[in-house]
Amino acid sequence: MRKTMTLLTAALVMTGIGVQTQTASARSKYDERFASYPTYNGDDLELSVDSTGTHFRLWSPKAQEVTLRLYDTGLNGKPYMNIPMNFHPENGTWTAGVDKPLYGKYYTFQVKQDGKWLSETPGVWAKAVGANGKRAAIIDFSTTDPDGWDADKGPKVDNFTDVIVYEMHHRDFSMSPSSGIANKGKFLALTEPGTTSPDGEKTGIDHLKELGVTHVHILPSYDYNSVDETNLQSNTYNWGYDPQNYNAPEGSYSTNPSDPSTRVREMKEMVKALHDAGIGVIMDVVYNHTAENDGSNFELTSPGYYHRHLDDGRYSDASGCGNETASDLQQMRDFIINSVKYWADEYHIDGFRFDLMAIHDIETMNQVAEELKKINPSIFVYGEGWTAGDSPLPAERRALKENVSKMTDIAVFSDDLRDAVKGHYSNAEDRGFATGKPGNEETVKIGIVAATAHPQVDYSKGNNSKFPYAESPEMIVNYVSCHDDLTLTDKLRKSLPDASDEQRKRAAKLAQTIVFTSQGTPFMFAGEEIFRDKKGVHNSYNSPDSVNAIDWHLKSANRDLLDYYIGLIALRKNHPAFRMTTAGQIAKHLEFDDIDSSTTPNLISYTLKDNANGDSWKDIKVIFNGGDEPRSVRLPKGTWKAAVLDGKIDLSESLGSFKGTIKVAPASAAILYKD
Ligand code: CA
Repeated sequence: MRKTMTLLTAALVMTGIGVQTQTASARSKYDERFASYPTYNGDDLELSVDSTGTHFRLWSPKAQEVTLRLYDTGLNGKPYMNIPMNFHPENGTWTAGVDKPLYGKYYTFQVKQDGKWLSETPGVWAKAVGANGKRAAIIDFSTTDPDGWDADKGPKVDNFTDVIVYEMHHRDFSMSPSSGIANKGKFLALTEPGTTSPDGEKTGIDHLKELGVTHVHILPSYDYNSVDETNLQSNTYNWGYDPQNYNAPEGSYSTNPSDPSTRVREMKEMVKALHDAGIGVIMDVVYNHTAENDGSNFELTSPGYYHRHLDDGRYSDASGCGNETASDLQQMRDFIINSVKYWADEYHIDGFRFDLMAIHDIETMNQVAEELKKINPSIFVYGEGWTAGDSPLPAERRALKENVSKMTDIAVFSDDLRDAVKGHYSNAEDRGFATGKPGNEETVKIGIVAATAHPQVDYSKGNNSKFPYAESPEMIVNYVSCHDDLTLTDKLRKSLPDASDEQRKRAAKLAQTIVFTSQGTPFMFAGEEIFRDKKGVHNSYNSPDSVNAIDWHLKSANRDLLDYYIGLIALRKNHPAFRMTTAGQIAKHLEFDDIDSSTTPNLISYTLKDNANGDSWKDIKVIFNGGDEPRSVRLPKGTWKAAVLDGKIDLSESLGSFKGTIKVAPASAAILYKD
């Protein structure tokens, strides 16, 4: 998420400058008071329904009074019953109950604190809500399961370096008329087989199968604040980094936001369809801040507690969105852990991408991963290892990229590889290794070895990071583009203004060859495989569909690029040498050629030797030429077969074999092998 932060702040934080050196105390003076609050971690928080009736339990330790309000409808109308709740000082909760199941009804809580009645809230644990999420709904979850749900399972993952992530927004993916999809912009879009573009190319879930990715990463799909669910015709769009109800799906992605069960059922149907296609589902989660400050459900249930503050009581704002949450406090930590567990249990979610993860503390993230493993060892957790502003949480406790080795089973995005390959993310005109700018070679190598310690990589020359921060390649996610900032196509158009799109596609292929052959987990942004752009808009979080929707006509127009991506994915899946699992393996099996970048810039070559990670290929030669001149590279003894050459990829030996030296064309990769 990058929505409101200033570029200056971003630049400081993304490079780690400032973050490492500041010495804030663990908690502001204002926030000290909350550490002594009693906490409650039962699974009956807020609502439980059983044969004896409907039970409510709100955590609000400093409330003076709490009223439960019951409604017949999700919006409008008066409560049909108001029930004063009873306080339990030992755990800070308030309870009330009705001696029958209230399926079909809605509820809110209203808290009086410091002599003032706050606005009504559905609480923080609403698992179903009415339109616009203002009231919680009481539904029977057993009625929301699709056929075969009990047997539903995501793909088994042995090592996270086996995962290939495809990041997508529901609306981007299906909204264009060219998608041929009926349920445009909906969860159900991903359940439709057999959809095609006007040119007859596969779209939707069939496109994902054709591409071969292992997991989709869906942008925020919990209930967010910015889209009016009662007026979906108004063509509003939002990425969804404005959380409202963390434990209910977003209504605008359902076919009927006013029926609380529909969004639940349709999201499960989406998960099931993807699982049936062998594809896992990773959810983008944004526990680091809330859409509103005083109006957030956190503030309306237990004022002050869930957010961090400055000493003077103002909200601290490490998110750049007006506030930040306090994972270092027990009830907030438990909330995050229980929330992801709920999504894994109820919706069979296969992974979580933590937005601005460094706002959370390391201990919380370690517990998140540990608890998720107990549910499903294949669940993949990764995040943005940075913040968007300063935080009272000290840098050494933050789940920062640089601290990833203090975390277990958690990966971070490598901004090292990203910026070095394509040029700086916020400077549109800046070029990188793949677009001919010298000086990025060592940082690309940091990406290739997944930021692990390697005897031939000089971290002092790294652009963003100066030490091998990852103990294992399973800690690193490599990418050159995502929903944030310019798409790869737009970046190439801005940074190579005089080039043709054909030349830019060559650079795109080179950039992605680096991503997909590097150690770590590769990550791509939906549509870049068909040269999708966003009309040059870098922060398109609320831009209209005309900017954000993928035009599926591009698929036939850029078929050569798509075939290259399909080839890269197949190459990676078939060859474990690109998916090593330990730093030791990488140091042993990956050997860089000695190239002096001061005299021969924009050239990297290395060998994956001795059947690395059990690969069927004995030795693999990987060569990246980001310059605008052809480069000759000497091949070790023997005959080498080409798998990738001059913008083509073919694993069937049709690209020829080579001895002695190979000439690598400008802006291209070469990959050769010996059986
Ligand atoms: Ca919503």
